[in-house]
Amino acid sequence: MSKPTGPIPPQFAEQEQLTIGGRTAEQWVEAAGDTPLFVYDVGSIGDRLARLRAALPDIVDIHYAVKANPWEPLLAQVAPLVGGLDVASAGEMVKALAVKPAQHISFAGPGKRDNELEAAIRAGVTLNAESVGEVDRALRIGKRLGLAPQIAIRVNPDFELRGSGMKMGGRASPFGIDVASVPGLVRKLTDAGAQWRGFHIFAGSQSLDTAAIIETQAATVDLAARLAGEAGAVPPLVNLGGGFGIPYFHGDTPVDIAAIGTALAEKLADMPVNLSGSRFAIELGRWIVGEAGVYLTRIVDIKTSGEESFWVVDGGLNHQLAASGNFGTVVRRNYPIAVADRLDHLADVETSVVGPLCTPLDRLGDRVVLPKAEVGDLIAIFCAGAYGASASPSGFLGHPAAREILANAKNS
Ligand SMILES: *Cc1c(COP(=O)(O)O)cnc(C)c1O
Repeated sequence: MSKPTGPIPPQFAEQEQLTIGGRTAEQWVEAAGDTPLFVYDVGSIGDRLARLRAALPDIVDIHYAVKANPWEPLLAQVAPLVGGLDVASAGEMVKALAVKPAQHISFAGPGKRDNELEAAIRAGVTLNAESVGEVDRALRIGKRLGLAPQIAIRVNPDFELRGSGMKMGGRASPFGIDVASVPGLVRKLTDAGAQWRGFHIFAGSQSLDTAAIIETQAATVDLAARLAGEAGAVPPLVNLGGGFGIPYFHGDTPVDIAAIGTALAEKLADMPVNLSGSRFAIELGRWIVGEAGVYLTRIVDIKTSGEESFWVVDGGLNHQLAASGNFGTVVRRNYPIAVADRLDHLADVETSVVGPLCTPLDRLGDRVVLPKAEVGDLIAIFCAGAYGASASPSGFLGHPAAREILANAKNS
């Protein structure tokens, strides 16, 4: 029995053959030199961000979570379109500092080492502190350097984002500091001479449930207000987290950005007094870049085994782990997939699309129905812009890394 595939992102659907920024898939491969290849459509990223910016109240900044796609040429394009960059390692911080001033960069993630804390303090990057111990180490390092660390407190919220693929709140967690410890810690770090930058509250990721996102944002504002009241200080910035998902699978529908913006504007119009003077941010990775990326891989072999057809392509989970269902998914489902130059052809061939790795996990399309194709044709896997190249085990089996290229890039 064949299995459904996810929806092709609207900017690529309804085409006769796949074109990205005016060039066909084959032209992109020629420009990049070879397959496998990630093409990132920067124009569509700009369009999405403009739409989100228009939907959100002015008091809310948009931050980009760099780990979704840290490729420097892409980051250089995204940075001017967002108010801040959120990084999760010193390596990402170095990339972010190349394209954004330090006061617009924050550094989250558990297990920051002393040398990472020191690099952030020296650069003036905000540390989103993940534990009491990390605050203590940052204060010590700041004292030794004679510099005031910029510290925001990442709060482990006492609720979670409903319907999110990855839950980050409402339970014991390696991320953030439990609510009860937060007010005392704010007082402690300001007494010690650090610059308190506010709260970072991230309740979950990859949710397509608009109502749940609205509810979580409201609860996050309330939690920030309560903690600010208990701490006796107004947070300069309240980072409300993100969690906007994108449609990867059959039946998924996009989140309603306009509805989220309206609800957030209403919530913030009635601002709790403890937050009067605060700014706000939402931080998004996958929503910003995910649908802009297409992974192109060429059919090397077509074979049948038993009753089943297999198209073997030249790239797989070594570059696009998530599409193989091995990156944080419980049940494997098919990403949107197509024969690149036959988007409008009748789909009447049931086949599995498998990568070149010697593991049964390397399956990009499981019993999908596609138009008839031949060896040499290009297969496109959509929704490849986030958690693709950098989140896949490219060293596994020793095939070359995937190439990456920008479409619709602005010259800097
Ligand atoms: C990973 C991460 C994000 C981005 O999540 P997306 O699902 O890509 O939007 C945002 N904030 C924090 C703290 C993260 O760890």
